[in-house]
Amino acid sequence: MSAYELRKAALVSAVSGPKREIQYPLKADGKARYPSEIYGENVFTLKTMAKALPKPIFASFLKQRRGRQNLDKNTADSISHAVRVWAMDRGATHYTHWFQPQTGTTAEKHDAFLSLVSNFTPGGEEVTPIDQLSGGQLLQSEPDASSFPSGGMRTTFEARGYTIWDTSSSMFVQQGPNGTSILYIPSVFISYNGDALDEKTVLLRSNDVLSRAATDLLSILEPESHISHVYTTLGTEQEFFMVDRNMYSLRPDLKITGRTLVGQLPPRHQQLEDHYFGRIPSRVMAAMSELELECLRLGIPIKTRHNEVAPGQFELAPIFEEASVAVDHNLLTMDLLHKVAHRHNLRVLYHEKPFKGINGSGKHCNWALSTDRGENLLDPTVRPETNFRFIIFLLAVLRALHEHAALLRVAISSSSNEHRLGAQEAPPGIISAFLGDQLNEVLDAIEENRPLKNFSVPQFQSIKVGGTVLDVKVSGLPHIARDLTDRNRTSPFAFTGNKFEFRAVGSKQSPSFPVTVLNCAVSAALHEITADLRAQTGSKPRPSDEDKLTVIRKYIKLTKHVRFEGDNYSEAWVKEAERRGLPNIASAPEAYPHLIAAKHVKMLTKETGVFSESELKSRYHILNERYTKDIIIEAETLSTIIGQQILPAAFEYRKSLAETAVALKTVGIEGGPEIETLEELTPLVVALQAEFRKLVKVLKDCLEHEHETEDSNKHALAAYTDIVPVIASVREAADALEVVVADKYWPLPKYTELLLTI
Ligand code: ADP
Ligand code: MG
Repeated sequence: MSAYELRKAALVSAVSGPKREIQYPLKADGKARYPSEIYGENVFTLKTMAKALPKPIFASFLKQRRGRQNLDKNTADSISHAVRVWAMDRGATHYTHWFQPQTGTTAEKHDAFLSLVSNFTPGGEEVTPIDQLSGGQLLQSEPDASSFPSGGMRTTFEARGYTIWDTSSSMFVQQGPNGTSILYIPSVFISYNGDALDEKTVLLRSNDVLSRAATDLLSILEPESHISHVYTTLGTEQEFFMVDRNMYSLRPDLKITGRTLVGQLPPRHQQLEDHYFGRIPSRVMAAMSELELECLRLGIPIKTRHNEVAPGQFELAPIFEEASVAVDHNLLTMDLLHKVAHRHNLRVLYHEKPFKGINGSGKHCNWALSTDRGENLLDPTVRPETNFRFIIFLLAVLRALHEHAALLRVAISSSSNEHRLGAQEAPPGIISAFLGDQLNEVLDAIEENRPLKNFSVPQFQSIKVGGTVLDVKVSGLPHIARDLTDRNRTSPFAFTGNKFEFRAVGSKQSPSFPVTVLNCAVSAALHEITADLRAQTGSKPRPSDEDKLTVIRKYIKLTKHVRFEGDNYSEAWVKEAERRGLPNIASAPEAYPHLIAAKHVKMLTKETGVFSESELKSRYHILNERYTKDIIIEAETLSTIIGQQILPAAFEYRKSLAETAVALKTVGIEGGPEIETLEELTPLVVALQAEFRKLVKVLKDCLEHEHETEDSNKHALAAYTDIVPVIASVREAADALEVVVADKYWPLPKYTELLLTI
């Protein structure tokens, strides 16, 4: 079949191929099971565990889980036995330590429960098969670490890496093929001497550090409330594209790099603004609801589904959970959706910018802090008398952002998210915070020690913020901050009523590192504020309201520059941000050195203790290496597509036009439209050929010079400055050709086919 015929066949099968439907689970009486009944049925929850274990064993586990005591052999053995039986009753034949290496995805290696026990009898060796999971096997396993990115730590500590059960996340069973299933043991992945080789270890550490910093501050602010634990909550709004799988399989660029390296926008894409919240296409809907069922079984609380702005773009959002569990669940959801989409002959694209010219995809990370009593520290409506607390925690986040904006920029930087930052809906490379008019006015009024102004709600007009202290307490901040009409979609970091929304996070990346960095920066800010508050309080048993206001005013002033309410995409903001001294970091390779800059290293190591210096260095290398590899892979893929598919297609079309012209001449017709098209086509082919040569050359140069320096950032910068612009100019030349070459000759499914056929 010609490339054209393949394209058309893919189109036909996309439209008329068989549609998959599954039976929603029913009760014995034939009525539908309720989602709440299915929820978590494949999870070895604490409740399940409590039922399966003797009481003292369960109690000892709970103690260990809160970090008070090590898990002893007896407890581990009992749990491993209980979970194995539970899992095997659900068809499990294997178990796996499931972990999160620094690749953005998850990793797993399966081991069978089957073991052989040898008995030596006088008659010879007798082998008995048994099913087994020992306490030791549950707690720890040693996968070969040498093939995961370690950024140089591998050479220092040999290839040894250990996966260790993360007891804060429940084990679960996932269905495998042929009616079997697998027991998943959520794990951390560390090196021989305890360095984090993964994303989760540092996230868990940052949670602990933040909890200590927050409870320390609360012990001064509200000693009577005895809050002993604070945890970060996270709700990830996951955006993605869905395309037909046959069509996808004809696009080597999508398959290899996750994005289209060439392609013209169709005449209608998102400009009619008719896709957002529109009817979900039926095939996608079938896949989403199948996914949701799987999520239910795994206790992943998916709440919302809708069309996004671009055609073919969608979003799923869960109910927020404790951050490390939310990260596990986000990664699981991504993986499950990938598998489920496959069954519907769809392909899910997580790349931040799979299509040029239309919206990219993000993963908005909704983030807040919750006490052990379930009170959201960023919720101004909890109790009016907690307004001081609310403002102080709000300022701690602003302080974190102000001090470590460049670091947060690092945490969201990748070759793929690069295409999104600043384009279409995406927040730009300058990190600032949006609070909304009303909250902004509250901070301004406190700073200037004046009453609030310009509020439509009459009760606020008489409030004297900062006059007598009591006024702040009764100022009705709750109503102010909960105004959800105040939206700014251009902000990379927005306060949305009772949480911050970190919007710059990319759809493809794990939310783990951005949240870890945010946790660390907020912890450092909390330390700082707590120290100031202590100093201000002096020998008094607790700070007076005036003491608190003094500290509050200080931090309002310190963090003012990071607040921005206007259009983040405007040129004016770029200038204004520069005037304010906020970093505007254009690219990932320019961002990465900030990870090892003194100020941020000090915060991440000495001040919070979440990272060691070697962990940061290794991460720095991994990020740089990944960037360079991504760009080289893109350049190689593009060069193959141009050299082997697009140029030959253009040649063929040109040949057919020329042959037609010759044939026409023999019957006495000279010139004419064929010749005109030929004349139009020729310079475009020449231009593409020239760009293609450039690409081949820069790629060759880059690979040749690779060995001249060990500096991974230099390589990344070279890829960014030398290769990225050529990839763009080759694309431009190819796209110009796509408009002229007859459809019949074009070898790749076009944007119309990819975006509008699901
Ligand atoms: P919006 O659409 O205004 O952003 P939603 O209520 O739809 O708000 O929430 C979006 C995401 O934010 C959801 O995943 C939700 O669970 C999450 N979220 C809500 N409250 C919190 C919170 N306190 N901490 C973390 N995430 C939250
Ligand atoms: Mg939101």
